[in-house]
Amino acid sequence: MESVDAIVVGAGHNGLVAANMLADAGWDVLVLEATAEPGGAVRSGHVTAPGYLSDLFSSFYPLGYASPVLRRLDLPIRWTHAPDVFTHLLPDGRAATVSRDLDRTMASMERFAPGDGERWKHAYEDWQAVSGRILDAMLSPFPPVRSGLGLLGRVGVAGALRLGRRLVLSARQLGSELFAGEGGPLALAGCALHTDLSPEEAGSGVFGWLLAMLGQEVGWPVPVGGAQQITSALVERLESRGGRIAYETPVSRVLIARGRAVGVRSAGGGDYRARRAVVADVPAPAFYLDLVGSRWLPPRLVEDLAHFRWDGSTVKVDWAVAGKMPWGNPDASGAGTVHLGGDMDGLSRYAAHLAVGEMPPHPFLLLGQMTTADPSHSPDGTESVWAYSHLPHRESWSAGEIDEHVARMEAVVDEHAPGFGDLVVGRHVFSPADLQRENPSLVGGAVGGGTSAAFQQLFLRPIPGLGRADTPIDRLFLASSSAHPGGGVHGAPGSNAARAALARDRALTGGAYRAVISAANRAIYRSAP
Ligand SMILES: Cc1cc2nc3c(=O)[nH]c(=O)nc-3n(C[C@H](O)[C@H](O)[C@H](O)COP(=O)(O)OP(=O)(O)OC[C@H]3O[C@@H](n4cnc5c(N)ncnc54)[C@H](O)[C@@H]3O)c2cc1C
Repeated sequence: MESVDAIVVGAGHNGLVAANMLADAGWDVLVLEATAEPGGAVRSGHVTAPGYLSDLFSSFYPLGYASPVLRRLDLPIRWTHAPDVFTHLLPDGRAATVSRDLDRTMASMERFAPGDGERWKHAYEDWQAVSGRILDAMLSPFPPVRSGLGLLGRVGVAGALRLGRRLVLSARQLGSELFAGEGGPLALAGCALHTDLSPEEAGSGVFGWLLAMLGQEVGWPVPVGGAQQITSALVERLESRGGRIAYETPVSRVLIARGRAVGVRSAGGGDYRARRAVVADVPAPAFYLDLVGSRWLPPRLVEDLAHFRWDGSTVKVDWAVAGKMPWGNPDASGAGTVHLGGDMDGLSRYAAHLAVGEMPPHPFLLLGQMTTADPSHSPDGTESVWAYSHLPHRESWSAGEIDEHVARMEAVVDEHAPGFGDLVVGRHVFSPADLQRENPSLVGGAVGGGTSAAFQQLFLRPIPGLGRADTPIDRLFLASSSAHPGGGVHGAPGSNAARAALARDRALTGGAYRAVISAANRAIYRSAP
């Protein structure tokens, strides 16, 4: 049986971040990946037409660029930007544009209501005063004591109270408090819909604010050469430190002895021994129920898992476009990302359809103009484009339902870019089932590793508990986006898991660390009286 210090299950970016950090500490690390490729939802490929590169899943990386976790790994990635960050197109053709050039954003917001340019500037100044501390608090292990105290020191008790209120506001409410016109609120609500949060949902305001303001501050950059560059950099860094990756090796079981993770079994029957830790970059339900198994878990944890909620299913379409996008409003031409398909009420209606389990008749789309962001994506004068849109979370959709939804998506694009359909020379569709086939962690096409709703955040993610990577099984850690702080390419769940594994392993303090975690878990998962 092969024996290493740590086994990492899954070569998504979180698994690779964890593997790199453990290798940095001198550990012998083996990553077992179910598919033939590393990267999980951070990959690129040629799927539409020759010469057109597509980012198969994620493609814009404001969180990755700003993440202290990825910065510490010092990856040799060359970042580039579209001229504008994003544009929200309204049904009447108007555009709300966010650009790294503050004056340009202000001018766009001002067109919606006199004074909204200045209001945007104030909102941005508020963000800038706390952005570093918020990112540190968000992307470090829970509870973020040091960064939380730093934030409190910066804003004071009065500011902390208002910040606390902002954390639970809906995007509609926050937008209406910050702006007089429609542009600013739509910028926030469109950004909130990068998660599964509707404009009415508690917490959608802060997600919208975070993504929009990060866009203002650092843009939504992409790696030159596509998403794959992030994965390749992580893989090369790991291999240069002696770490290894075995592909087409799905893990079916965590091996446990006397309450401690001691290795894993692959679906092919191979056993691998882990001397110090097993770190899993897999979704929480598969991790606990399939890989660990309920007999090793406190019954109360298994009950809590029954309430774990996925985010919506996703349909993603990539197009090879033999020209520039024929936008009706030229303001969208320079944007890396375009939000399409609704004013505020339209976004709420779209979200309401998803909430009641119906196909949205007029979908909201996130659309990426990848050649505008990075010219290496397709020949000069052409565009490599993708768009994705959500469906209610379901594991199976008929081919007819998917075709219908793709037709609706294309109709929305055509409404805003008349003649788009005539320019398409290649198309590739990922249905929810296709997404899951390419990456078994994208269960039902859910892109976030579980809902971003407030009831599944912080110490409630993935289930009520410590909000940490530690589990009730000694030396077993959860490193995927199902763990705090959730989806997005920022590496924090991977980093949190590696830090927990290293803390558990420390010669002098590891035992005490384990005792505290065990006692806390016993209290949290004690059976209901
Ligand atoms: C269509 C789409 C668009 C997105 N857009 C963006 C974006 O623009 N910007 C952004 O920041 N984020 C975006 N995201 C979200 C982001 O990509 C994910 O949150 C992030 O990649 C999750 O990383 P991860 O390492 O936790 O999991 P994953 O990337 O899903 O990786 C998990 C890995 O584990 C492997 N695996 C699963 N089970 C097993 C097993 N039993 N044994 C072995 N291996 C296993 C999988 O094959 C996979 O390689 C997007 C996601 C999708 C799907």
